[in-house]
Amino acid sequence: MIDEKTVREIRINPITPSESVLVASARGLRPRQEEERIPHDSRAHVETCPFCKGNEDKTPPTITAMPDEENWEIRVVRNLFPVLGTDSDQKNISFGMQQVMDGYGHHEVIIDHHNHGMEVYEMSHEHLEMLIAVYRNRMEELFNSDERLKYVLVFKNFGSAAGASIKHTHSQLIAMPIVPENVYNEVISSQAYFRKHHQCVFCSLIDEALTFEATIYSRESGEVRRKIDVGQYVVERGERFIAIKPFASRYEWEVHILPLEHQSDFTKITPEDIADFSRVLKRTMQRLDTVLGGAQYNYYFHTVPRCEESSGCDESYHWHMEICPRTSIPSGFELGSGLFITTVSPEDAATRLREAL
Ligand SMILES: [Zn+2]
Ligand SMILES: [Zn+2]
Ligand SMILES: [Zn+2]
Repeated sequence: MIDEKTVREIRINPITPSESVLVASARGLRPRQEEERIPHDSRAHVETCPFCKGNEDKTPPTITAMPDEENWEIRVVRNLFPVLGTDSDQKNISFGMQQVMDGYGHHEVIIDHHNHGMEVYEMSHEHLEMLIAVYRNRMEELFNSDERLKYVLVFKNFGSAAGASIKHTHSQLIAMPIVPENVYNEVISSQAYFRKHHQCVFCSLIDEALTFEATIYSRESGEVRRKIDVGQYVVERGERFIAIKPFASRYEWEVHILPLEHQSDFTKITPEDIADFSRVLKRTMQRLDTVLGGAQYNYYFHTVPRCEESSGCDESYHWHMEICPRTSIPSGFELGSGLFITTVSPEDAATRLREAL
């Protein structure tokens, strides 16, 4: 007997059709290697932590601080071990099939909160608004500072499995001379979708997510073949933003937050947008913590790049944040094939997240 909720299908990512995911929620499926959950570190201050108050001399100097350097609650510094820098004078070189581009760029650390173990869902609305504004402002300043910079990636790693080496809550920003492949693929695919359908693919997905039921009729007989409840992908809804569980995503509990109104550039957000975004983010993180308790995760922003290839993409690209909880360890099959396996169906994941609060 097959359980009603059993799903075993390959789903094509509607935004980047070159990506697909294997949804295999069959009962009795051997559980995958689980990623560790980490206990909540509720310490407010740790004497030896370089990001805690009083230890400012253990980090490179402050780039910016909110509300001010003396009473900082958020502090931005250069990364002590930058992956890209402004000090190299290497020129672009290529030899045979091997091409090298100068590793020019900026790598900054954003200390999200002065309180060491503060989780995103515990931060006050005012604080989260300040943090989102810092993300926006740093991005804008770096883009304007140097036209060689094509992309500024703002991201957060939480937990060692997600790549965080320091426990104090922090985010990072890398400004780079190339457009990262994931963003590039989204830009190109959504442009192709726009040319064909005269509509933004992200907006179309939001419209679909907000439609509560869709009926598929048989073309020949007109009979109802299948009813699908598409509203089931909505996790959280604000006035201006929506959090959705993508229909085909690499991580079981992946959630995306998008502006409801079409907007390509994250740096154009208004204070009202920031306020609503912060509320939606806080509640989404709260839902994830309620369901997953202590899951390690990454989140990052995808916005329209500043380069020639993406000029004219304002109508087709739609900025968003992707939240990727790291609950299982990718296997050789996944790395080798690029086909990620999801053992919780996106529909079930969305239901559980929606019912969490
Ligand atoms: Zn600390
Ligand atoms: Zn759109
Ligand atoms: Zn994206």
